[in-house]
Amino acid sequence: MRIAMFSTKPYDRRSFDAVNEGMGHEILYLEPRLAPLTAPLAAGAEAVCVFVNDDLSAAVLERLAADGTRLVLLRCAGFNNVDLAAAERLGMKVARVPAYSPHAVAEFTIGLILSLVRGIHRAHQRTRDGNFALEGLLGFDLHGKTVGVLGTGKIGAIVARILASGFGCRVLAHDVRPDPELMAIGVTYAAPREIAAQADILTLHCPLTPETHHVVRAETLALAKSGMVLVNTSRGALIDTDAVIDALKSGRLGGLAIDVYEQEADLFFEDLSNKILNDDVIARLLTFPNVLVTGHQAFFTAEAIGAIAEVTLGNASTIAAGGALGAAEVALPARAVAHG
Ligand code: NAD
Repeated sequence: MRIAMFSTKPYDRRSFDAVNEGMGHEILYLEPRLAPLTAPLAAGAEAVCVFVNDDLSAAVLERLAADGTRLVLLRCAGFNNVDLAAAERLGMKVARVPAYSPHAVAEFTIGLILSLVRGIHRAHQRTRDGNFALEGLLGFDLHGKTVGVLGTGKIGAIVARILASGFGCRVLAHDVRPDPELMAIGVTYAAPREIAAQADILTLHCPLTPETHHVVRAETLALAKSGMVLVNTSRGALIDTDAVIDALKSGRLGGLAIDVYEQEADLFFEDLSNKILNDDVIARLLTFPNVLVTGHQAFFTAEAIGAIAEVTLGNASTIAAGGALGAAEVALPARAVAHG
C-alpha cells in the first residue's frame, strides 16, 4: 500500500522502516502536519498515516478523498482530531492503535507526580548551577494521600494500581464504567465533585469527548481541596487552561503537571528554542515554579513506538489484503466515549 505519512520525525522513520522490512509498504515520509494546505502532498496515496495533532477535519478529508485516499491510519489511540462522520460519508476507513503501551503513559504520569511534588526537576536545574540549597523544595509524602483518578481504562487503571498498591495512597476514581478489579484492591469510585473536594492530587485519564471537554474548569476548581495538584497526560482540552492559571495564581491549585496542552498543535514536537514564543498562555504557565510541562512525551518509549509501527502497518496490511480490522482498531463515533 502507498502510505503518505504526515508529521514524521526521525524516530518515526526508524521504527516504521524497521517494521516495514517485513511488510513492503511504500511509505512516503512527510515532515509537515496534515492540514488543508498540506493535504495535496498525499495525492495518489491510498492511505495517510497521522498523529495526534494532524488535522482530519471534513475539509481535509474531502481533499484527501478527491485525491484517492481511502484509509486513515492513526498512529495513536485517541481520534478526537478526526471528523468521523465526514470519513464515513466519504467511504474512508479510520484505523487506530488502541493500545501500544499503557505502561509507558502510566509510568510517566507517576514520574510527573513525583517530580512535581518533590521538586526533582527544579533540584536538577539548581545543582547544575552549583546551588545545593533546599529552600523552596519542601515536598510531601505520597503515602496516605488521596489521589483522584478520572478515567480508569488501560492507563488510568495502571496509575491507580501503582498509587494504591505501590505508594499506599487512598485512590478515589471516577469512570463511566467502574473496574471491579480496582475495587478489589481498595480503589473507591466516587462522583467527580466528591473527588475534587477530597483529592490531594487529581490525575486525568479519560478520553477527550464532548462530555469531558474542559472537565476541569472554574467550577471544578472552586470545589477543589485547597492546594490540590493537577496532572494531565491525556488530552489538553480536558482542562480550561485560563481557569487553571487563575487557580494557580490564587493558590487554590498547589501545582500542575501537564504533558498535553489544548493549543499544543503549534508547539509540541518542535524545537522552538531559537524562536519567539507566541502563545501567551503557555508562556504564563512556564513562569510558575510549581508548574511542570512536557511536550506530549508520555507515550515515548522504545516499546511503545515499536508497537505503534507494528500495529499501524499491520492495519494497512489487513486492509490491503481485503481483510477486516479488529474491532478495537476501528475508530467509531460510538467508541469515542468508551475507548478514546
Ligand atoms: P481507555 O479507552 O482504555 O480508557 C479511557 C477510560 O475513560 C475508559 O475506562 C472510559 O470508560 C473512561 N471514560 C470515558 N468517558 C468518561 C467520562 N466522561 N468520565 C469518566 N471516565 C470516562 O484509554 P487509555 O488507553 O487509558 O487512554 C486514556 C487517554 O490517554 C486517551 O484517551 C488519550 O487521549 C491519552 N493518551 C495520552 C498519551 C500521551 O502520550 N500523553 C498516550 C496515549 C494515550
